[in-house]
Amino acid sequence: MPRDSAQVNARRASALRDSAETCTFAAMTETVPSSRRRAMKPQSLELGGRPLHPSTLMMGYGYDPALSEGALKPPIFLTSTYVFESAADGKRFFEGIIGRRPGGVEGLVYGRFNGPDQEILEDRLALWERAEDALVFSTGMSAITTALMAWVRPGDIIVHSAPLYAATEKLIDAVIGKFSVGWMDFRASASREAIEATLRAAKAKGRVSVIYLESPANPTNDLVDIEAVAAVRDAVFAEGEKPVIMCDNTFLGPVFQAPTRHGADISLYSLTKYVGGHSDLVGGACIGTKAALAPILALRNTIGTITDPHTSWMLLRSLETVQLRMERAEANARTLCAFLRDHPKIERVGYLGFLEPGSAQRDIYDRHCAGSGSTFSVIVKGGETQAFRLLDNLKLVKLAVSLGGTESLASHPAAMTHLSVPDARKAELGISDNLVRVSIGIEHVDDLIADFKQALEAV
Ligand code: PLP
Repeated sequence: MPRDSAQVNARRASALRDSAETCTFAAMTETVPSSRRRAMKPQSLELGGRPLHPSTLMMGYGYDPALSEGALKPPIFLTSTYVFESAADGKRFFEGIIGRRPGGVEGLVYGRFNGPDQEILEDRLALWERAEDALVFSTGMSAITTALMAWVRPGDIIVHSAPLYAATEKLIDAVIGKFSVGWMDFRASASREAIEATLRAAKAKGRVSVIYLESPANPTNDLVDIEAVAAVRDAVFAEGEKPVIMCDNTFLGPVFQAPTRHGADISLYSLTKYVGGHSDLVGGACIGTKAALAPILALRNTIGTITDPHTSWMLLRSLETVQLRMERAEANARTLCAFLRDHPKIERVGYLGFLEPGSAQRDIYDRHCAGSGSTFSVIVKGGETQAFRLLDNLKLVKLAVSLGGTESLASHPAAMTHLSVPDARKAELGISDNLVRVSIGIEHVDDLIADFKQALEAV
């Protein structure tokens, strides 16, 4: 029975994916076709003619208890391989794995390729961006690495927004750069004209295969105009030579921004942050069209950067509360930032909720974002000494890198996450010595204000 459940669950997941023929939500509101061997209870994305919210669908979408002994929640399928019912089944499944048969894999094969927990997680993640498909990875960096390596080849140029998370910058420059792949960048806040100038300059140098964005940027919170990037890409490159647009959506996703709705082909996530949300796991994801994800899936199958069943199960649990957590953290951040902005020892707060009406950044925010999130920068009056004093005197807010957990964290990007970035580039990108990055959690906001108040007294 468990063997049967596992196989049918995977087939269910594949069937679910195949039912979404286009990227539109309407196409995804059809009921799921039954699997070849055992019918899955039909699941719908709508009720009474209106689409269901992702937060509702996180409780059960993509999983039928009847296929797993009636278990309300999906079991953790701890197995490295799956038994085929017949040799012909095995052949057909492998044809799906290596891409000889269109439509993806029809069944479970081997833990490096897929598993029921991972497939349910992928189906649920895709719903947040109303995308065709999703792929999950062992970390955010393994998602980014697999995506870039799948799409670039020697001699190509990657055009990226700046700044990027430091490990991503290093990956593009020092790791992928070893394979004769160059890069050019534009400031995350660049105008459409500046983005176009960079793309034209890059095109003159070689084949541009990827436009890589991070929005909001880590750690400055600068927003990239994803719609402008897509429009410029379509204007500068002819059909057949258009680079794929990837956007790291870790800071606002999946609740407050969906880059694939604004022209990105692929949204990238460190699931370690808001989606995981409890600072107890690492994971990553790519969300997008099947066509954009196909080479990434093929590379993931080859090198095995997929996440494991236990982490996938934890992420399924996290997804049930992601909207609640992100909304509460956002409300906390809004109140705390209002307190910090008026504090005499604070020079500035880099918070999306404070973007000037009429500014270019505010215009991007209004078009792309549904909320300000809860990760922001606090620029303390002074330098590293004052920033360190603030960090060392916080009592509730923990001094740690990472973000998006239930607990509040603060860190010093210039001396920690972005230490490897050369000083001149840090200065150019606004990663200053008096910048403290804060990620607000779901504690009571009065306690958070009290903590910052007492810590600032020591600055
Ligand atoms: N992208 C951004 C914006 C990040 O902040 C991070 C990590 O902090 C990553 C990617 C990498 O994610 P992971 O640590 O899960 O590999």
